[in-house]
Amino acid sequence: MPLQFADRLNNVETSAIRELFKLLGKPGIISFAGGFPDSAMFDVDGIRAASNAALDQEPGAALQYGATEGYQPLREQISAFMTSKGAAALAPENLIVTTGSQQALDLLGKTLISPGDKVIVEGPTFLATIQCFRLYGAELISAPIDADGVQTDVLEQLIAEHKPKFVYLIPTFGNPSGALLPLDRRKKVLELAVKYNTLVVEDDPYGDLYFGEAPPPSLLALSAQVPGSRDLLAHCGSLSKVLSPGLRVGWLVAPPELLAKATMCKQFSDAATSTFAQATAAQYLKAGRLPGTLTRMRAVYAERAQAMGDALRKDLGQAIAFVQPQGGLFVWARLTGAGGKVADGNAFAKRAIEKGVAFVPGTPFFCAQPDSATLRLSFATADVEKIREGVARLAQAL
Ligand code: PMP
Repeated sequence: MPLQFADRLNNVETSAIRELFKLLGKPGIISFAGGFPDSAMFDVDGIRAASNAALDQEPGAALQYGATEGYQPLREQISAFMTSKGAAALAPENLIVTTGSQQALDLLGKTLISPGDKVIVEGPTFLATIQCFRLYGAELISAPIDADGVQTDVLEQLIAEHKPKFVYLIPTFGNPSGALLPLDRRKKVLELAVKYNTLVVEDDPYGDLYFGEAPPPSLLALSAQVPGSRDLLAHCGSLSKVLSPGLRVGWLVAPPELLAKATMCKQFSDAATSTFAQATAAQYLKAGRLPGTLTRMRAVYAERAQAMGDALRKDLGQAIAFVQPQGGLFVWARLTGAGGKVADGNAFAKRAIEKGVAFVPGTPFFCAQPDSATLRLSFATADVEKIREGVARLAQAL
Protein backbone atom coordinates (compact mmCIF):
# COMPACT_ATOMS: atom_id res chain seq x y z
CA MET A 1 0.00 0.00 0.00
CA PRO A 2 1.44 3.43 -0.86
CA LEU A 3 2.39 5.67 2.07
CA GLN A 4 -0.27 8.19 3.02
CA PHE A 5 1.14 11.67 3.44
CA ALA A 6 -0.32 14.69 5.20
CA ASP A 7 -2.70 16.86 3.22
CA ARG A 8 -0.48 19.89 3.80
CA LEU A 9 2.03 18.45 1.35
CA ASN A 10 -0.49 18.97 -1.45
CA ASN A 11 0.29 22.67 -1.31
CA VAL A 12 4.01 22.40 -2.11
CA GLU A 13 6.38 20.75 -4.54
CA THR A 14 10.14 20.20 -4.74
CA SER A 15 11.78 23.42 -5.71
CA ALA A 16 12.42 23.90 -9.40
CA ILE A 17 15.80 25.24 -8.38
CA ARG A 18 16.83 21.94 -6.83
CA GLU A 19 16.00 20.20 -10.10
CA LEU A 20 18.21 22.69 -11.90
CA PHE A 21 21.05 22.15 -9.44
CA LYS A 22 21.22 18.52 -10.54
CA LEU A 23 22.49 19.76 -13.90
CA LEU A 24 25.24 21.83 -12.34
CA GLY A 25 27.55 18.84 -11.96
CA LYS A 26 28.22 19.04 -15.72
CA PRO A 27 31.97 19.62 -16.18
CA GLY A 28 33.05 23.17 -17.01
CA ILE A 29 29.71 24.76 -16.24
CA ILE A 30 29.82 28.33 -14.92
CA SER A 31 27.11 28.83 -12.35
CA PHE A 32 25.20 32.02 -11.67
CA ALA A 33 22.49 29.82 -10.14
CA GLY A 34 23.37 29.45 -6.47
CA GLY A 35 21.95 31.59 -3.72
CA PHE A 36 24.99 31.15 -1.53
CA PRO A 37 28.15 33.05 -0.66
CA ASP A 38 31.56 32.17 -2.10
CA SER A 39 33.13 29.46 0.04
CA ALA A 40 36.59 30.74 -0.92
CA MET A 41 35.80 33.80 1.18
CA PHE A 42 35.01 32.08 4.47
CA ASP A 43 37.17 33.30 7.34
CA VAL A 44 38.40 29.77 8.12
CA ASP A 45 41.16 30.94 10.47
CA GLY A 46 38.80 33.15 12.41
CA ILE A 47 36.15 30.44 12.72
CA ARG A 48 38.79 27.88 13.75
CA ALA A 49 40.07 30.25 16.44
CA ALA A 50 36.50 30.88 17.60
CA SER A 51 35.62 27.20 17.84
CA ASN A 52 38.86 26.50 19.72
CA ALA A 53 38.05 29.33 22.12
CA ALA A 54 34.55 27.89 22.60
CA LEU A 55 35.97 24.46 23.45
CA ASP A 56 38.75 25.86 25.64
CA GLN A 57 36.65 28.34 27.57
CA GLU A 58 33.18 26.84 27.75
CA PRO A 59 33.26 23.17 26.74
CA GLY A 60 30.32 22.33 28.97
CA ALA A 61 28.03 24.89 27.37
CA ALA A 62 29.33 24.36 23.84
CA LEU A 63 28.69 20.62 23.87
CA GLN A 64 25.64 20.41 26.13
CA TYR A 65 21.95 20.93 25.34
CA GLY A 66 21.16 24.62 25.53
CA ALA A 67 18.25 26.95 26.18
CA THR A 68 15.69 27.05 23.37
CA GLU A 69 15.93 30.87 23.29
CA GLY A 70 19.60 30.58 22.42
CA TYR A 71 23.01 30.75 24.05
CA GLN A 72 22.97 33.89 26.17
CA PRO A 73 26.43 35.25 25.19
CA LEU A 74 25.41 34.94 21.53
CA ARG A 75 22.10 36.70 22.14
CA GLU A 76 24.10 39.50 23.74
CA GLN A 77 26.52 39.69 20.81
CA ILE A 78 23.66 39.73 18.29
CA SER A 79 21.76 42.42 20.16
CA ALA A 80 24.95 44.53 20.33
CA PHE A 81 25.48 43.99 16.58
CA MET A 82 21.89 45.00 15.79
CA THR A 83 22.12 47.99 18.13
CA SER A 84 25.29 49.12 16.31
CA LYS A 85 23.16 49.20 13.16
CA GLY A 86 20.53 51.43 14.70
CA ALA A 87 18.11 49.00 16.35
CA ALA A 88 17.88 51.07 19.50
CA ALA A 89 17.04 49.39 22.80
CA LEU A 90 17.23 45.89 21.42
CA ALA A 91 17.81 43.68 24.46
CA PRO A 92 19.04 40.07 24.20
CA GLU A 93 15.59 39.05 25.49
CA ASN A 94 13.96 40.60 22.41
CA LEU A 95 15.44 37.91 20.15
CA ILE A 96 15.85 34.17 19.97
CA VAL A 97 18.59 32.36 18.09
CA THR A 98 17.25 30.16 15.29
CA THR A 99 18.74 27.44 13.13
CA GLY A 100 19.33 29.75 10.19
CA SER A 101 16.83 32.48 9.46
CA GLN A 102 15.00 29.79 7.53
CA GLN A 103 13.87 28.41 10.88
CA ALA A 104 12.71 31.86 11.93
CA LEU A 105 10.47 31.89 8.83
CA ASP A 106 9.23 28.40 9.65
CA LEU A 107 8.44 29.39 13.23
CA LEU A 108 6.52 32.42 11.98
CA GLY A 109 4.57 30.17 9.65
CA LYS A 110 3.88 27.70 12.44
CA THR A 111 2.80 30.29 14.99
CA LEU A 112 0.79 32.59 12.74
CA ILE A 113 -0.68 30.76 9.75
CA SER A 114 -3.86 28.71 9.86
CA PRO A 115 -4.99 27.06 6.61
CA GLY A 116 -6.62 29.67 4.38
CA ASP A 117 -4.98 32.66 6.08
CA LYS A 118 -3.79 35.34 3.71
CA VAL A 119 -0.18 36.49 3.69
CA ILE A 120 1.16 39.23 1.43
CA VAL A 121 4.63 38.67 -0.08
CA GLU A 122 6.55 40.52 -2.75
CA GLY A 123 6.23 39.33 -6.35
CA PRO A 124 8.94 38.00 -6.71
CA THR A 125 10.13 36.75 -3.32
CA PHE A 126 12.36 34.12 -1.70
CA LEU A 127 11.28 30.73 -2.97
CA ALA A 128 11.71 28.86 0.32
CA THR A 129 9.41 31.38 2.02
CA ILE A 130 6.70 30.72 -0.56
CA GLN A 131 7.02 26.97 0.03
CA CYS A 132 7.24 27.29 3.82
CA PHE A 133 4.17 29.51 4.19
CA ARG A 134 2.21 27.33 1.74
CA LEU A 135 3.07 24.27 3.80
CA TYR A 136 1.08 25.88 6.62
CA GLY A 137 -1.81 26.50 4.25
CA ALA A 138 -1.30 30.21 3.57
CA GLU A 139 -3.03 31.83 0.65
CA LEU A 140 -0.27 34.05 -0.70
CA ILE A 141 -1.06 37.44 -2.21
CA SER A 142 1.58 38.97 -4.47
CA ALA A 143 2.50 42.65 -4.01
CA PRO A 144 4.27 43.93 -7.12
CA ILE A 145 7.75 45.42 -7.00
CA ASP A 146 9.48 47.96 -9.19
CA ALA A 147 13.16 48.95 -9.33
CA ASP A 148 12.82 50.30 -5.76
CA GLY A 149 11.23 47.22 -4.23
CA VAL A 150 7.63 46.80 -3.12
CA GLN A 151 5.17 49.39 -4.42
CA THR A 152 3.76 50.71 -1.18
CA ASP A 153 0.66 52.28 -2.73
CA VAL A 154 -0.39 48.93 -4.17
CA LEU A 155 0.63 47.26 -0.90
CA GLU A 156 -1.78 49.50 0.95
CA GLN A 157 -4.64 48.55 -1.39
CA LEU A 158 -3.84 44.86 -0.93
CA ILE A 159 -3.70 45.15 2.86
CA ALA A 160 -7.00 47.03 2.91
CA GLU A 161 -8.63 44.50 0.61
CA HIS A 162 -7.27 41.22 2.00
CA LYS A 163 -6.64 41.99 5.68
CA PRO A 164 -3.66 39.61 5.71
CA LYS A 165 -2.35 37.79 8.75
CA PHE A 166 0.97 39.47 7.99
CA VAL A 167 3.11 41.01 5.29
CA TYR A 168 6.52 39.46 4.46
CA LEU A 169 9.16 41.69 2.89
CA ILE A 170 12.87 41.59 2.06
CA PRO A 171 13.45 45.37 1.98
CA THR A 172 17.24 45.30 1.57
CA PHE A 173 18.78 43.68 -1.53
CA GLY A 174 15.91 41.25 -1.99
CA ASN A 175 16.21 37.68 -3.09
CA PRO A 176 15.74 37.41 -6.02
CA SER A 177 15.11 41.09 -6.83
CA GLY A 178 18.29 42.66 -5.45
CA ALA A 179 16.08 45.72 -4.91
CA LEU A 180 16.67 48.27 -2.18
CA LEU A 181 13.58 49.82 -0.64
CA PRO A 182 14.12 53.58 -0.16
CA LEU A 183 13.64 55.35 3.16
CA ASP A 184 10.24 56.89 2.35
CA ARG A 185 8.78 53.51 1.39
CA ARG A 186 10.23 51.95 4.55
CA LYS A 187 8.47 54.55 6.66
CA LYS A 188 5.29 53.99 4.67
CA VAL A 189 5.43 50.24 5.35
CA LEU A 190 5.65 50.90 9.10
CA GLU A 191 2.83 53.42 8.92
CA LEU A 192 0.70 50.86 7.09
CA ALA A 193 1.43 48.31 9.82
CA VAL A 194 0.05 50.74 12.39
CA LYS A 195 -2.84 52.05 10.26
CA TYR A 196 -4.14 48.56 9.47
CA ASN A 197 -2.89 46.85 12.64
CA THR A 198 -0.99 44.35 10.49
CA LEU A 199 2.15 42.48 11.45
CA VAL A 200 5.10 43.04 9.12
CA VAL A 201 7.93 40.51 8.83
CA GLU A 202 11.27 41.92 7.69
CA ASP A 203 13.70 39.31 6.36
CA ASP A 204 17.17 40.81 6.26
CA PRO A 205 20.00 38.39 5.46
CA TYR A 206 21.69 40.72 2.95
CA GLY A 207 21.62 44.16 4.59
CA ASP A 208 25.32 44.12 5.50
CA LEU A 209 26.43 43.28 1.98
CA TYR A 210 26.30 46.77 0.48
CA PHE A 211 28.76 48.01 -2.12
CA GLY A 212 28.77 51.77 -1.73
CA GLU A 213 26.87 53.75 0.87
CA ALA A 214 25.17 51.84 3.67
CA PRO A 215 21.47 51.22 2.88
CA PRO A 216 18.72 53.07 4.76
CA PRO A 217 18.05 51.72 8.27
CA SER A 218 16.20 48.42 8.57
CA LEU A 219 12.49 48.50 9.37
CA LEU A 220 13.53 47.34 12.84
CA ALA A 221 15.81 50.35 13.32
CA LEU A 222 13.23 52.72 11.81
CA SER A 223 10.41 51.42 13.96
CA ALA A 224 11.67 53.67 16.76
CA GLN A 225 10.51 56.63 14.64
CA VAL A 226 7.00 55.35 13.89
CA PRO A 227 5.01 55.09 17.13
CA GLY A 228 3.33 51.73 17.62
CA SER A 229 5.16 50.01 14.78
CA ARG A 230 7.68 48.10 16.89
CA ASP A 231 4.84 46.01 18.36
CA LEU A 232 3.83 45.01 14.84
CA LEU A 233 7.23 44.04 13.50
CA ALA A 234 9.18 40.80 13.34
CA HIS A 235 12.72 40.77 12.00
CA CYS A 236 14.75 37.79 10.77
CA GLY A 237 18.54 38.03 10.69
CA SER A 238 21.31 35.60 9.79
CA LEU A 239 25.05 35.01 9.87
CA SER A 240 24.76 32.85 6.74
CA LYS A 241 25.66 35.42 4.11
CA VAL A 242 28.21 37.34 6.17
CA LEU A 243 30.02 34.55 7.99
CA SER A 244 28.97 30.99 7.09
CA PRO A 245 25.68 29.32 6.18
CA GLY A 246 27.10 26.05 7.52
CA LEU A 247 26.95 27.41 11.07
CA ARG A 248 23.15 27.65 10.69
CA VAL A 249 22.90 30.64 12.99
CA GLY A 250 20.07 33.08 12.48
CA TRP A 251 17.74 35.00 14.77
CA LEU A 252 14.22 36.25 15.20
CA VAL A 253 13.29 39.56 16.80
CA ALA A 254 9.60 39.82 17.57
CA PRO A 255 7.10 41.29 20.04
CA PRO A 256 7.22 39.35 23.36
CA GLU A 257 4.01 37.36 22.88
CA LEU A 258 5.01 36.19 19.42
CA LEU A 259 8.56 35.42 20.54
CA ALA A 260 7.20 33.27 23.38
CA LYS A 261 5.00 31.26 20.99
CA ALA A 262 7.84 30.87 18.50
CA THR A 263 10.13 29.67 21.30
CA MET A 264 7.54 27.13 22.35
CA CYS A 265 7.29 25.81 18.80
CA LYS A 266 11.07 25.69 18.48
CA GLN A 267 11.18 23.57 21.62
CA PHE A 268 9.12 20.90 19.86
CA SER A 269 11.18 21.20 16.70
CA ASP A 270 14.92 21.17 17.42
CA ALA A 271 15.02 21.95 21.18
CA ALA A 272 17.82 24.43 20.52
CA THR A 273 20.11 25.57 17.74
CA SER A 274 23.47 23.73 17.86
CA THR A 275 25.16 25.02 20.99
CA PHE A 276 28.55 24.35 19.45
CA ALA A 277 27.71 26.56 16.46
CA GLN A 278 26.28 29.22 18.77
CA ALA A 279 29.30 29.24 21.08
CA THR A 280 31.59 29.44 18.04
CA ALA A 281 29.57 32.32 16.58
CA ALA A 282 29.59 34.11 19.93
CA GLN A 283 33.37 33.80 20.20
CA TYR A 284 33.76 34.98 16.62
CA LEU A 285 31.67 38.10 17.21
CA LYS A 286 33.39 38.74 20.56
CA ALA A 287 36.79 38.58 18.86
CA GLY A 288 35.66 41.51 16.71
CA ARG A 289 36.44 39.85 13.39
CA LEU A 290 33.10 40.41 11.67
CA PRO A 291 33.68 44.03 10.54
CA GLY A 292 36.90 43.01 8.76
CA THR A 293 35.21 40.03 7.12
CA LEU A 294 32.36 42.25 5.96
CA THR A 295 34.74 44.79 4.45
CA ARG A 296 36.46 42.02 2.50
CA MET A 297 33.18 40.51 1.30
CA ARG A 298 31.73 43.85 0.25
CA ALA A 299 34.79 44.61 -1.85
CA VAL A 300 34.78 41.24 -3.62
CA TYR A 301 31.03 41.16 -4.30
CA ALA A 302 31.04 44.80 -5.40
CA GLU A 303 33.70 44.04 -8.00
CA ARG A 304 31.82 40.97 -9.23
CA ALA A 305 28.49 42.81 -9.38
CA GLN A 306 30.11 45.54 -11.44
CA ALA A 307 31.77 42.98 -13.74
CA MET A 308 28.47 41.20 -14.29
CA GLY A 309 26.59 44.44 -14.95
CA ASP A 310 29.24 45.66 -17.39
CA ALA A 311 29.37 42.31 -19.22
CA LEU A 312 25.58 42.10 -19.49
CA ARG A 313 25.37 45.62 -20.91
CA LYS A 314 28.19 44.91 -23.35
CA ASP A 315 27.22 41.39 -24.52
CA LEU A 316 23.43 41.34 -24.23
CA GLY A 317 22.69 45.03 -24.77
CA GLN A 318 19.06 45.77 -25.52
CA ALA A 319 18.05 42.13 -25.10
CA ILE A 320 18.15 42.41 -21.33
CA ALA A 321 16.99 44.98 -18.76
CA PHE A 322 18.14 45.15 -15.15
CA VAL A 323 18.97 47.54 -12.34
CA GLN A 324 22.62 47.50 -11.27
CA PRO A 325 22.47 46.09 -7.73
CA GLN A 326 23.85 48.16 -4.86
CA GLY A 327 24.34 45.14 -2.60
CA GLY A 328 23.38 41.53 -1.98
CA LEU A 329 24.22 38.63 -4.26
CA PHE A 330 21.89 38.96 -7.25
CA VAL A 331 21.17 40.65 -10.55
CA TRP A 332 17.46 40.38 -11.29
CA ALA A 333 17.01 40.76 -15.03
CA ARG A 334 14.29 40.69 -17.63
CA LEU A 335 14.54 39.52 -21.22
CA THR A 336 13.10 42.22 -23.43
CA GLY A 337 12.73 40.14 -26.59
CA ALA A 338 14.43 43.00 -28.48
CA GLY A 339 15.73 42.03 -31.92
CA GLY A 340 13.62 38.88 -31.95
CA LYS A 341 15.75 37.33 -29.18
CA VAL A 342 14.46 34.79 -26.63
CA ALA A 343 12.06 36.32 -24.12
CA ASP A 344 11.25 33.26 -22.03
CA GLY A 345 13.46 32.69 -18.99
CA ASN A 346 12.75 28.97 -18.74
CA ALA A 347 13.64 28.26 -22.36
CA PHE A 348 16.67 30.51 -22.04
CA ALA A 349 17.89 28.63 -18.93
CA LYS A 350 17.83 25.34 -20.86
CA ARG A 351 19.74 26.81 -23.78
CA ALA A 352 22.21 28.43 -21.40
CA ILE A 353 22.98 25.09 -19.71
CA GLU A 354 23.76 23.66 -23.16
CA LYS A 355 26.24 26.52 -23.65
CA GLY A 356 27.82 25.86 -20.25
CA VAL A 357 26.29 28.53 -18.03
CA ALA A 358 23.53 28.20 -15.45
CA PHE A 359 21.16 30.61 -13.76
CA VAL A 360 17.71 30.39 -12.23
CA PRO A 361 14.71 31.49 -14.30
CA GLY A 362 12.47 33.93 -12.44
CA THR A 363 9.18 32.01 -12.66
CA PRO A 364 9.44 30.02 -9.37
CA PHE A 365 9.95 33.20 -7.34
CA PHE A 366 6.39 34.36 -8.02
CA CYS A 367 3.50 33.10 -5.93
CA ALA A 368 1.05 34.31 -8.60
CA GLN A 369 1.16 35.25 -12.31
CA PRO A 370 4.88 34.76 -12.94
CA ASP A 371 6.76 37.10 -15.21
CA SER A 372 8.35 34.37 -17.32
CA ALA A 373 10.81 36.78 -18.96
CA THR A 374 12.73 37.21 -15.69
CA LEU A 375 15.99 35.62 -14.50
CA ARG A 376 18.09 35.63 -11.35
CA LEU A 377 21.84 35.78 -11.88
CA SER A 378 24.12 35.41 -8.86
CA PHE A 379 27.50 37.10 -9.11
CA ALA A 380 28.67 35.72 -5.76
CA THR A 381 30.54 32.54 -6.53
CA ALA A 382 32.29 33.10 -9.89
CA ASP A 383 35.38 35.32 -10.12
CA VAL A 384 35.48 38.27 -12.52
CA GLU A 385 37.03 36.28 -15.36
CA LYS A 386 34.42 33.51 -15.04
CA ILE A 387 31.67 36.10 -14.87
CA ARG A 388 32.81 37.60 -18.18
CA GLU A 389 33.06 34.15 -19.78
CA GLY A 390 29.68 33.12 -18.36
CA VAL A 391 27.97 36.24 -19.70
CA ALA A 392 29.61 35.66 -23.10
CA ARG A 393 28.05 32.18 -23.06
CA LEU A 394 24.69 33.71 -22.14
CA ALA A 395 25.00 35.92 -25.20
CA GLN A 396 25.65 32.85 -27.36
CA ALA A 397 22.64 31.08 -25.86
CA LEU A 398 20.48 34.08 -26.66
N1 PMP B 1 15.78 34.64 3.65
C1 PMP B 1 16.29 34.94 2.46
C2 PMP B 1 15.73 36.10 1.71
C3 PMP B 1 17.32 34.18 1.91
O1 PMP B 1 17.79 34.49 0.70
C4 PMP B 1 17.83 33.08 2.65
C5 PMP B 1 18.95 32.21 2.15
N2 PMP B 1 19.08 32.08 0.80
C6 PMP B 1 17.25 32.82 3.90
C7 PMP B 1 16.24 33.62 4.38
C8 PMP B 1 17.68 31.66 4.75
O2 PMP B 1 18.99 31.76 5.16
P1 PMP B 1 19.59 31.00 6.40
O3 PMP B 1 18.59 29.99 6.86
O4 PMP B 1 20.83 30.36 5.91
O5 PMP B 1 19.84 32.05 7.43
